[in-house]
Formats: sequence, C-alpha cells, structure tokens
Amino acid sequence: MENDITGNETLKIPFGDLRRQYLKIKEEIDNAIQGVLASGWFILGKELEGFEREFAQYCDSTYGIGVGSGTEALHLALRACGVKEGDEVITVPNTAVPTVCAIVSALAKAVFIDVDPSTYTMDPQKLHDYLKNNYNKRLKAVVPVHLYGHPADMSPILEICETYGLKVVEDACQAHGALYKGQKVGSMGNVGCFSFYPTKNLGAYGDAGMIVTKDIAVAQKLLQLRNYGEKKKYYNISEGFNSRLDELQAAVLRIKLSYLTQWNNIRRDIAATYGKLLEGASVVCPVEKDYDRHVYHLYVIKTPNRDKLREGLDRKGIGTSIHYPLPIHLQPAYRHLGYAIGSLPIAERLSGEILSLPIYPELCEDEIQYVCNSIHQLYQKAKSLKKFLDKK
Ligand SMILES: *Cc1c(COP(=O)(O)O)cnc(C)c1O
Repeated sequence: MENDITGNETLKIPFGDLRRQYLKIKEEIDNAIQGVLASGWFILGKELEGFEREFAQYCDSTYGIGVGSGTEALHLALRACGVKEGDEVITVPNTAVPTVCAIVSALAKAVFIDVDPSTYTMDPQKLHDYLKNNYNKRLKAVVPVHLYGHPADMSPILEICETYGLKVVEDACQAHGALYKGQKVGSMGNVGCFSFYPTKNLGAYGDAGMIVTKDIAVAQKLLQLRNYGEKKKYYNISEGFNSRLDELQAAVLRIKLSYLTQWNNIRRDIAATYGKLLEGASVVCPVEKDYDRHVYHLYVIKTPNRDKLREGLDRKGIGTSIHYPLPIHLQPAYRHLGYAIGSLPIAERLSGEILSLPIYPELCEDEIQYVCNSIHQLYQKAKSLKKFLDKK
C-alpha cells in the first residue's frame, strides 16, 4: 500500500507481471533449462519432439510443428495451405497486427471482414455476404481470430469456407485451450496456429510458436518449410525458411503446459469475479456464448468513457492496456489496401471503447477487488460531478 497525494491508499497493480509466475515454478523451470544446457543439443531435438506431441494432443489434433513465433506459424501455415503470391486471404481488422504481417509474408493480400458487436470476432454473416458479392479465384484462405481467448463462431465459418473451397487457418494465438461447442480451438480448421510469446496463456521465455493439424501432407510440408526446405539433410525439395522452436523454449513450455488447464481455470474464476464485482458499473463485460469456453487471455471491458476511465485507473496505480487502439485497415502501413474510415464500423467503434484490465493467474483477490472498487468510484465521481454541473 502507498498513499497518493490525496491521502488515499493505493495498490500498485501492473497490467502484467511474468515474474510472479516464474517464482512459483522456479525450481522446475531452472532444472529443465539446466537439462538442456547439459545435453549440448539446442535445435530440433527431443524436447521439441516431446512438446510437439504433447501440445498437439492437448489441442485434440494430430501433428504439432514447432516454429519460431506465432507470426511464423501463421505465415508458414498459409504457405502450406497453398497460398501463393498474389492470392487473397480474409481476416478481421481488430486483431494483433502479426495476423496481417503473416499474410504479407505469404505474399498475399489481406481482405478484412467486420466483426460481431458482442463477441468482437469475425461476423459469419458478413463473410457470407462478402463472398456472395466479391468471390474471385485469388481468394484462398480465411483466418478467423479467437480474440482475447474467445472462440470465433466456427460452425458457419467452416460451412461457408467449404462452399467456396477456402482453407481455414485458425489464429489461436490468444486462445490456448479454449473450446467451441466442445472442440478445442486450433483443431477445427485445416490448421491451428499458436504463439508462445511470453505473455500468452502458455508463454515461453522468448519467441516461439506452433501449428497443429490433422493433415499429414500439410504437416510434412511444414516440417520442410521451417527447416530451409529440407526433406532430409542437405536435400532441398522446396524453397524454405529458418523458423524453429528451440530446445530451451520447448523444455520451458513442456513444464508450463502441465499447468495450463489449472491456469486457464483461474483466469476464468478471475473473469467471473470481475463480472460479479462490476455489476452496476457503466461498463460492458465480455460475453461468453453458452457453447463457448473462453480462456480470458485478456479481460476486455467496453465503455464510451474509455480514455477517462483509463486515466483514472492509472492514477490509482492500476495498469491497463488497449487491444487494439487503431484497427489494422486504418494503420498507415495498410492504407494502400484502400479501406476508408467508416468501412468497417464495428471494429472502428470498438477501438475507441475497449479497455483491457489486468488478468493473470497470479492476480490476487484483493487486487481484483481494488480494480473493481476503483472503477465504481470513478463512475460515481463522474456522476456526482455531472449532477453538480447540471445544477449550475
Ligand atoms: C500474439 C499474436 C500473434 C503473433 O504471435 P508472435 O508469437 O508474437 O509472433 C498473432 N496473432 C494474434 C491474435 C496474437 O495475439
């Protein structure tokens, strides 16, 4: 506890704190890292093989192919699904920019479909309408994003893609372990792509990613693409890349995978507590459809007074973030794609109203309460100020 300038007590609650998790599992992690160092083997070894097998199984998929990052998982997955120079790939504008970087790396052009106003994920009706009016032979794949840990509405998306012969590359980088109608994200499309960026629900101590698939031909293609295009050593049957998940990261991730179910459950408990304690505040909490199991990579509330609320929370020592403040179609880098302001209105409106609150398994009850009390206080202050001004 500290005192702020008005004499009120404040807690310091960072938006994220990876040290808290490390300290809880320090001994296991340190041993795993020591084991790799002592083995003298750092690239494409038994830790990666083990992790690929275990993570594919966790995802109810068949093959896991470890790569250098989530971006590379998406990039190589698109190539393995046959995306070529000049093709078009459909995704959403309110995602982490790497979704689009990956499309660019695959030499394709991104096409954006607006999102559902309640789940913030791809609106299948809009995908349907777009394809009905604009289908062309360059369109090859759709990348639905399981944003914040909430699954995209896969049944209609898969059906539409089947009709038009489009591959489905799931961006599950924020949703390790989430369920859609009982199915694990990443197991429904042609491929599922994951990031193990340190802050993700399953995070490495550096960059790492994985593709899971049930398609053996796609899996074999990916094994070549990530390793210089080699089918066997020094024999290159395709052009390739260097994108591998190294042994140190794989060893760390194997330890952490054994905690993932527990950690996701705690995230869900925290989300439930937030939902309860924020009742009556002028904010919209995340929705969870009855057929979804959200894993709350992020806890994103919505309010028209977002910037004021964020400033107020900052003064109270509470770290927040915005995912994401400017939709990709309006970023300077992607203006050439030709989307005007107002062309994707839901995503654009969301970007001005969303706010991510701290959520991680090590967040304590006191801290959650403090965040929620602070939000209530800030709204009450705003209300009484408005009353006061209205009277004048
Ligand atoms: C994190 C993330 C990525 C990229 O992952 P990196 O490992 O950082 O390359 C892609 N898509 C989404 C939605 C993400 O959140």
